[in-house]
Amino acid sequence: MSENQSKGPAVIDAGLKWAHGLAERQRTELLVLHHAAGNGSVEAIHREHLDRGWSGIAYHYYVRKDGAIYRGRPEWATGGHTLGENWRSLGVCFEGNFEIEEMDPEQLKSGGELVADIRARYPGIEVKRHRELGVTACPGENFPFDEILEYEEEQPVVYAKLGDVPEYYRPTIRKLMEQKALVGVVDPDPNSLDDNVINVDEIYCRVMTTLDRMGKI
Ligand SMILES: [Zn+2]
Repeated sequence: MSENQSKGPAVIDAGLKWAHGLAERQRTELLVLHHAAGNGSVEAIHREHLDRGWSGIAYHYYVRKDGAIYRGRPEWATGGHTLGENWRSLGVCFEGNFEIEEMDPEQLKSGGELVADIRARYPGIEVKRHRELGVTACPGENFPFDEILEYEEEQPVVYAKLGDVPEYYRPTIRKLMEQKALVGVVDPDPNSLDDNVINVDEIYCRVMTTLDRMGKI
């Protein structure tokens, strides 16, 4: 019933226009993480790369310091971010210079979500820092590589069974179950309330307990 598949973080399409046709990438085996070594918009990087005679921004995604994620090249297209590896890799660039800066939590969260989403969609994909693949400091000494890879989306706390519900809320939840107003999504033993899988969260418990205290339940 529940949808566990990650839908991925929101990605902003800035409507970038390409100078030349983009080539389709045949393989996706590697994800390379970069920093911009400076600050600026996705349009500014696009412009800079156009000025070098390229098709446009060389990365597939650009993560700003405020956590906004922008689409660069379409995911199907060959990037231009890592010499010798573009034919088989995706490139994500983070705004900032992590030689001298530390990453803010908003950017870390978005970057973590984006990398987790890409890894989920390309099972077995390797993730590397640019500097592991070429002579560069990119993405900088302070780049939080491990934290980004270890990032897991925070899941809301769900109480699966009556016994998992905090004691304060439990009498109300029990009452709702006894009234059959709340029934288990799975109920192995109809004579027991304790094995019912109810999957209620804290907000549900709080609202119901408030209603109960108001005499509405
Ligand atoms: Zn780089």
